[in-house]
Amino acid sequence: MSEQSTPQWFTGSEYTHRVAQAIAQYGPIARTTLSQLLGLSQGALSRITSDLIYADVIEETPSQPNTSNKLPAGFTAKESTERRGRPQTALRLRAEQRSFIGANIHGSDISMIVTDALCNPLCECITEALTSTKPNDVAQQLSDLARRCSAGIDPSPVAMGLSIGGHADKDRFVTYAPFLHWDGSIDLGGMMEEYGGIPCAIFNDLDSLLFHESWFGEGVGLSRFAVVTIGSGVGYSLSENGRPVDYPDKSYGLAGHVPLDPEGPRCYAGHIGCSQCLTNDSLAEEYSTMIGHLASFQQFADDAMAGEAQAKQLVNKLCFRLGTLIATASNFAMPSKVLISGESSFLARLNTESIRNGISWYRPSQAAKIDFEILDFDWADWAEAAAARAIARYIG
Ligand SMILES: [Zn+2]
Repeated sequence: MSEQSTPQWFTGSEYTHRVAQAIAQYGPIARTTLSQLLGLSQGALSRITSDLIYADVIEETPSQPNTSNKLPAGFTAKESTERRGRPQTALRLRAEQRSFIGANIHGSDISMIVTDALCNPLCECITEALTSTKPNDVAQQLSDLARRCSAGIDPSPVAMGLSIGGHADKDRFVTYAPFLHWDGSIDLGGMMEEYGGIPCAIFNDLDSLLFHESWFGEGVGLSRFAVVTIGSGVGYSLSENGRPVDYPDKSYGLAGHVPLDPEGPRCYAGHIGCSQCLTNDSLAEEYSTMIGHLASFQQFADDAMAGEAQAKQLVNKLCFRLGTLIATASNFAMPSKVLISGESSFLARLNTESIRNGISWYRPSQAAKIDFEILDFDWADWAEAAAARAIARYIG
């Protein structure tokens, strides 16, 4: 069984790839800052950047280099040693030279988008329902949608990233996909290549989100951060030095049954108040019990947004429990920041004070406060995240 083949933008040494990656993440960036960041001499860096400029991967730009907090935490750029009076230039990735397709399968829907090499969208994200969950049909539908999304986009996409809530071996063979009810090992990457005519690598959705944040989002420059997602399930993933921490069993929902609330509802596995109580189904059930009649998750969410008293009470519990999960994860994994996402993360915005209280309740008071941020949630971001992984492989 071979690994999914992905074309690469250029060939070069490990350092050439590292330079291109750093320019993608931190650019536009001054040469002096880049050489300090990567520990390369100005001469060595100059030889590498000449090759990358010649290959049309990067270019010199007169624009101001990035001086924002996107550079790694704790890194301070030294003063330029260039001659005074010489105009300050910066290096940027020629993002417009390539395009990529990103797709995410969530529940029974697909979302797809086309981006440039810096993961900026080049079209509207399209979301449509899966017409069938049979592997061949899914690959066919994804390929048709990819053709529609990339019509009229110049240059045409060079690679596709597809993320799923599950596990893909060698970025190609889907071996676990509970939402699609697939059995055994499915060569989805191979089918996509056959039907769509474009190299397609398959990734775990949470890892893709983490990757996207490390390369192009809130995680740029952070050495270690975590993402917690809430929605139809509960997800957790950890990034170390710009990459998801590798662990063979992490696609199996390791954060799904963490004890959070001794007075919480009982989950299907029999636990009391485990992290299943953060899921949409459990919230709908708990809300139904509170109000005395059957209510859907949507009803609960609508009531919460409208400020109904009982819904607010459940939101407060949800936020406190989420804080407890964040404290537990942070106390063990020690990330410098926790990002909250997922389709019901908008509920977390309704009471950040309860999240803080939940964190404080389970964290020593002397320990530093945990920095957390609730990301804007949109399936387009999850589709972009899959594109980000394809870009990362393409740049190397
Ligand atoms: Zn449980």
